[in-house]
Amino acid sequence: MIERTEERFGLKPERLVADTAYGAAPMLNWLVEEKGIAPHIPVFDKSKRGDGTFSRSDFRYDATDNVYHCPGGKRLGTSGTVHEGKTLLYRASKLDCDVCPLKPQCCPKEPSRKIPRDIHEHARDVARSFAGTEGFEQSRRERKKIEMRFAHLKRILKLGRLRLRGPGGAQDEFVLAAIAQNLRRLASLVARPPPPQALCLA
Ligand code: SF4
Repeated sequence: MIERTEERFGLKPERLVADTAYGAAPMLNWLVEEKGIAPHIPVFDKSKRGDGTFSRSDFRYDATDNVYHCPGGKRLGTSGTVHEGKTLLYRASKLDCDVCPLKPQCCPKEPSRKIPRDIHEHARDVARSFAGTEGFEQSRRERKKIEMRFAHLKRILKLGRLRLRGPGGAQDEFVLAAIAQNLRRLASLVARPPPPQALCLA
């Protein structure tokens, strides 16, 4: 849709507002690296550990040297092998971990710690950097307004599923539903409640 809008109308957004469902790393990478669009999309982070040991966020990534620095001050490097087509593994040295006093909080059941990093993590970092900014909050408010309209279309105008076939049918049905929705809004905006009746007590 973004490319079609750009080709047809010469319009390209500076930012894209969406929910976490659009926060997959390849999608974010496409937006950031290929299209130069700021993703105002919350990033769903599954790297948080619940057992009290260090999470990935406790390790600092150094983009210049392409290494992680652990809480114990050691470096975790990668061989560059991509696992399952999307993940790099950054490993600490077993020699470092063996003598580290933080090992019980870090990798109590493994000989040494490893940190997985998506090959598109940079784009996720860019998306994370917008979280909490005034621009991001503004986008969130705008997204809620739009989503409310879609919820209304589904619930009140019963547009949970389309009845006409093909893209042309879908377009016709959607345009008609949007007209109906806009008329309802217009009516609620211009309609004035009747003036209150004066109560006269004799
Ligand atoms: S156990 Fe290893 S990775 Fe963890 S803090 Fe210590 S040296 Fe760093």
